[in-house]
Amino acid sequence: MSKNNIIIFSVLIIIFSACGIPSDSDNSVEVVEIESTQYVSETEEKEEMDNIEIISQIKSGETLSAILGKYNVSQKNILIIAEQKEVDCDFNNMQIGKEYKISLDADSVITSFHYQKNSTDVYSIIFSDTLKYKETKTTIKKVISDKVIIKEEVKMEEKVNKEISKLDFLTGKFQLNKHPNFVLVDKKYHTKSEMYLQKETLEDFIKMKESAEKDGIQLILVSGTRNFYSQKSIWERKYNKNKAKGLTDIENIKKIMIWSSMPSTSRHHWGTDIDINGFDEYFDGKNEKANNEYEWLVNNASKFGFCQVYSEKEEGKRQTGYNEEKWHWSYMPLSSGYLEEYKELITYKDINGFSASEFAKELDIIKEFVFGIGCD
Ligand SMILES: [Zn+2]
Repeated sequence: MSKNNIIIFSVLIIIFSACGIPSDSDNSVEVVEIESTQYVSETEEKEEMDNIEIISQIKSGETLSAILGKYNVSQKNILIIAEQKEVDCDFNNMQIGKEYKISLDADSVITSFHYQKNSTDVYSIIFSDTLKYKETKTTIKKVISDKVIIKEEVKMEEKVNKEISKLDFLTGKFQLNKHPNFVLVDKKYHTKSEMYLQKETLEDFIKMKESAEKDGIQLILVSGTRNFYSQKSIWERKYNKNKAKGLTDIENIKKIMIWSSMPSTSRHHWGTDIDINGFDEYFDGKNEKANNEYEWLVNNASKFGFCQVYSEKEEGKRQTGYNEEKWHWSYMPLSSGYLEEYKELITYKDINGFSASEFAKELDIIKEFVFGIGCD
């Protein structure tokens, strides 16, 4: 019944709850940040496809942890999921008649879980690496009775193992740990559970950090590389939240893009851009420590190759794009070349695969946002 091995690097859990009963039209979306942990099942047999499928008939009052527990999926993982108590997604009390879909999203692996309960008990979980497969269709398996199982066809074409194309790199469609120039950043330099950067970016950041320390300034990375899939998690969470409040697609995009990028248009895809010490609340101008840190960066970051790409918007200077971000610094020796390549290679047909992506062209996101930077 099950393919028994699983490796999940989970950073975000996105819970999509779509109702299966007409009386409930609420679509709630919640994101829960959890520690990145490697979970490996205890089965000996290692298969090539890091993939687990579980079919289970839901019994009244059965919890997700109880179901997953039967398949040797790490208890730690189970508890993290099971503890989430959202309005429509209490996994210790799955609601009959509702449809749940969860994506466990991370830099390298995207996994999905599908639970459906209607007149017939249906339950299915599939974890798979979407970067490895062209399409991961959620497998729906019907358990008619305890013994009869109808298996619907699952189409998962394995991607040909090839080098990361320039186009995929620029739009973030690659696995960070598979890119030869990316390195895992030592925990002492960042606040995330896991972080990757290009080797050169990291080396010069470390030099900058050490120099800052001599001036009594502490620098720590609060965000590094986010690939398309990580960015998509952020995007979909915000999009669904705004949509639930009644925003149109255009309004929704504009609101998200005050601070966040469309997947495939983020400089954070490149391993060259870093967020330092905090975000908008930290750098609100009222925090003296933050002011000193920012002042140090303004005076010194360029010596190490870093530039504040989202500078102050003012006439004669930067007028389009994101609001000023005092925390976002780009490693120009690499990123300036990528921006040139982006200009040459990427068109609106390359920007897709997430909610409302069809409006990217109308809003001229590439010109307004990708090129809306303050560094030459
Ligand atoms: Zn940033």
